[in-house]
Amino acid sequence: MKRNIILMGPPGAGKGTLAKMLMEGLDLVHISTGDMFREAIKEGTPLGTLAASFINKGDLVPDDVTIGIVKERLAKPDCAKGFLLDGFPRTLPQAEALKELSSEIARPIQAVVNLDCDENELIRRISGRRVCKSCGAPFHVETMKPKKEGVCDLCGGELYQRKDDNEEALKVRLTHYNEDTKPLLDYYAHEGLLVNFNSLVGKEKLFDEVLSYLNK
Ligand code: AMP
Repeated sequence: MKRNIILMGPPGAGKGTLAKMLMEGLDLVHISTGDMFREAIKEGTPLGTLAASFINKGDLVPDDVTIGIVKERLAKPDCAKGFLLDGFPRTLPQAEALKELSSEIARPIQAVVNLDCDENELIRRISGRRVCKSCGAPFHVETMKPKKEGVCDLCGGELYQRKDDNEEALKVRLTHYNEDTKPLLDYYAHEGLLVNFNSLVGKEKLFDEVLSYLNK
């Protein structure tokens, strides 16, 4: 069983949904930098104010800030059981910092799961996405409707549309993905860690395929 895992893919590829499904069956720590930033924004901390000024426009939060929060989180004892990094690393300096960090704490990355998805489908998914304010569970206005409109099936929280899920911010996010994050696929292929999955097969099939790979 692979335990220290990176989940990669463009915005809208299904990382959050897959991470939540994997977390139900695997005893791993879920580290989503996007969720950490959104939590800080909700709490109104200085980190939140700084992060919001980048996130709302679709830009990446600077590397030193992002690496800092991941470093702090990975140092916590619960990460010894294994972790799933969701949305980190997104730049080459982040990947290099992670390599150093994971070797310092003797928890090397064992798999990089990459979700492939075509760009038209990403736009369709993101523009219809709704997220629970309380637990972060993702829904979609057409393909993943909640049982009751505007209400989370899991915790009863209120569903909302993320500020960065609009057309303008999405364009910027896709540009960052193509320019800053995509080159990491070569980086991890070179390290012999990359495995590609087609996220268009649907969330249940994708989950089965990824889980069986991680269990090998
Ligand atoms: P996500 O929830 O993963 O889509 O992340 C939402 C936003 O948070 C991104 O569009 C970035 O603005 C910011 N963010 C999340 N992870 C990172 C990261 N590793 N590096 C820089 N910015 C990030």
